[in-house]
Amino acid sequence: MDQLSAFTKTNTAARIRAAAARGALSHALIFSGAGARADAARYAACAFECTSDSRRPCLSCEPCRKVLAGIHPDVISVRDPQHREIAIDVVRDMRADAFIRPNEGARKVYVFEDCSLLTEKDQNVLLKLVEEGPAYAAFLFCAENPASLLQTIRSRCVELKLAPADGADPESSDRAQELCRLLAVGSAADRAAFFTGLENAKLAREEVGALLAEARRLLTEALASLYGAQSGTLPRALAQDLTQRLTKSQILGTIELLQAYQSDCTYNVGVGILLGGLAAQLEELF
Ligand SMILES: [Zn+2]
Repeated sequence: MDQLSAFTKTNTAARIRAAAARGALSHALIFSGAGARADAARYAACAFECTSDSRRPCLSCEPCRKVLAGIHPDVISVRDPQHREIAIDVVRDMRADAFIRPNEGARKVYVFEDCSLLTEKDQNVLLKLVEEGPAYAAFLFCAENPASLLQTIRSRCVELKLAPADGADPESSDRAQELCRLLAVGSAADRAAFFTGLENAKLAREEVGALLAEARRLLTEALASLYGAQSGTLPRALAQDLTQRLTKSQILGTIELLQAYQSDCTYNVGVGILLGGLAAQLEELF
């Protein structure tokens, strides 16, 4: 709830409220960028179901509270935990469901939490639904990179770009994700190229420190999810790579290593030496 209350203060939230007040909230929205996409989707889902006469979403009427608690029967997250990507059958079932009128709400809202999991086939089924589906159906697409959606879908949606959450700058967060991905699925040569790239980018020690801190945060989330915790900001595909490809002790070892090098970043040590040392020690773990 805390994170959502932070989201309500953003420009995007204001745009959603303004559109909802005019009855003009688009039935197909893309939340892109590094910000709180899941919060934005929950907020928009509330706006579709809210019954308040004044401010929509009010976040306190019964429908709003049900959406926030994840128990509104007409707000549906489209997921496929059995597969790496969302299987076409799941999308077809969802399409059939969309033609059944809402249970209790005004709208039927489908949430796609990570569009990088949608295949081209999935998207072609969705495209027709977004274009020609029933008027009560709404679609909320969360895509860090909007290019993971076909241009044909994007052209029928309103895209709202979310600014990155406080603290994490987008570049170091992209690099941190890339590093984590390479740890899970890359080769030693891929990782060496990544570190060479960092060195060539002539980052300041503070920037390297921020990158390592963010990578450590992502790995900590992955580790927590191995123990059953819900992962908050870790992109789904990355979470799967990390948790399926790495052992707990590899993740833990990497977290400790990153922590040590992160604290080295506060000393007056050359970035090249620091990155070289980290790269060599990481290879011992993988
Ligand atoms: Zn409400």
